Amino acid sequence: MAAKRIVLFGAPGAGKGTQAQWLCDALDLAHLSTGDMLRAAVANKTGIGLKAKSFMEGGKLVPDDIVVGVVVEAIAHSAKTTPSGYALDGFPRTLPQAEALREMLAKRNENINLVVLINTPEQLILDRLTQRRSCSDPKCGAVYNLKSKPPRNEGVCDVCGNPVVQRTDDKPETIKTRLQAYRRETEPLVGYYKKACVLVDIPGDGSVYEVAGRILEAVAKLGH
Ligand code: AMP
Repeated sequence: MAAKRIVLFGAPGAGKGTQAQWLCDALDLAHLSTGDMLRAAVANKTGIGLKAKSFMEGGKLVPDDIVVGVVVEAIAHSAKTTPSGYALDGFPRTLPQAEALREMLAKRNENINLVVLINTPEQLILDRLTQRRSCSDPKCGAVYNLKSKPPRNEGVCDVCGNPVVQRTDDKPETIKTRLQAYRRETEPLVGYYKKACVLVDIPGDGSVYEVAGRILEAVAKLGH
């Protein structure tokens, strides 16, 4: 079967990470989250991490050249380890990133098959981001919600036992900056991908399973 190259698109807190995880488990795809990759780079104090840290903590976008470099490597690696394809989560976030992705794929005679816009109401996004807690170990990356999915033992990750914390960029002041960055720099990509006829727009409210069902339905239509 042909490899699937999918972009999960939407505002911070729209549910991209959770849905990408589900989708990748269900379809055996590589989950390529630029946020996770950058957080790991920050935790490991790599050159990229040191450059990205202050942007991330301030809720600002990391410069395109840094992020594009990270994605080029991740895509090349996933082609070797997971030939069934990948879901990009959190990339592209600017027009130059989308263009870089198009050019990078064109060199391999490939393109993005599907962009899923997870359309989540702003109030729900704010609720989710303020209630979100994450495992402090970036290698684990488990995500919780204080209301709907708290860790079994308060403050302790169910998966690896490390402390569960609030991401620095999930603090209310930073959430505002991230949403502004989304509206200003990322949302225009909806038009870009609509023009390329690869965008499906699905509602992001409802349970994780409901949203996952909508995404799987869109993916199932690929190639029909
Ligand atoms: P996320 O986990 O996707 O919400 O990303 C967390 C943070 O990482 C963002 O607020 C940005 O600072 C940075 N980041 C992740 N992906 C990108 C990207 N494609 N372009 C620029 N910055 C990014």
